[in-house]
Amino acid sequence: MSVYIVVFIVVSYLIWLKCIYYRHRRSLVNSLKRVMNVLSSGEMNGDDISALIVTAHPDDECMFFAPTIVRLVELEVNVHLLCLSAGNYYNQGAQRKQELLNSCAVLGIPDSRITIVDHKKLPDDPKAEWSVSLVSSVIVQHMRAHSFNMVLTFDGSGVSGHANHTAIHKAVSHLAFTGQVPNDCCLLCLVTVGLLRKYVSFLELPFSWLLPSCLRCIIGSQGYRRAKDAMFCHRSQLLWFRYLYITFSRYMFVNTFQMIPQGPKNLKVY
Ligand SMILES: [Zn+2]
Repeated sequence: MSVYIVVFIVVSYLIWLKCIYYRHRRSLVNSLKRVMNVLSSGEMNGDDISALIVTAHPDDECMFFAPTIVRLVELEVNVHLLCLSAGNYYNQGAQRKQELLNSCAVLGIPDSRITIVDHKKLPDDPKAEWSVSLVSSVIVQHMRAHSFNMVLTFDGSGVSGHANHTAIHKAVSHLAFTGQVPNDCCLLCLVTVGLLRKYVSFLELPFSWLLPSCLRCIIGSQGYRRAKDAMFCHRSQLLWFRYLYITFSRYMFVNTFQMIPQGPKNLKVY
């Protein structure tokens, strides 16, 4: 009898997950409109949106942002990537740059929309303190050159706590606070979840669905295969624990974002 109850619970849970996925597909455009402050009656197509994803290292795009990239590309959003280092910690920078281009090709970002910064003051190093003013000036120059209306990056915990990830959040928050973000551009940060939620794979979906967030991107089995293929492009990083990550990390299935609040425009800070 108890076996039937367990089977019933598991099947119900799986059906619920499927419902969440299909409901999410319909609601993503509305969420995008909401975060971009577009009136609900107005038409908005994906190609009206230019989104910039700012990462620190080659492989961040697929380890942490794959669900977002896959879903935005499906909606025909112009997705760009700004990666602030070549990932040269083990002197593999040249190889890792190429791996990044290959991974982005799988995810649907063409080479022409990828910028890899290779600056000696922005080393791939968890112990290096990246300058907030340098990072924010690199990001704001890129934003002004391309007129993005959405920028997505790490939150203050950087998902893995890597100092280079959190430095980007500090820089983007600085731009937001000092009013340097171009008009009509919203800033979103990827929510870091606790260890338990992080490594329960797609079973974490109901939490991401029920807990409040500004934007949520969920992928199904097809999207997951694409995210996995992108991860496999980073051959230099494929150590045994990466396979565990691919299988168990919820970031391979779902991303949730919160808004980075913006201060008044052109605020002078003395
Ligand atoms: Zn990273």
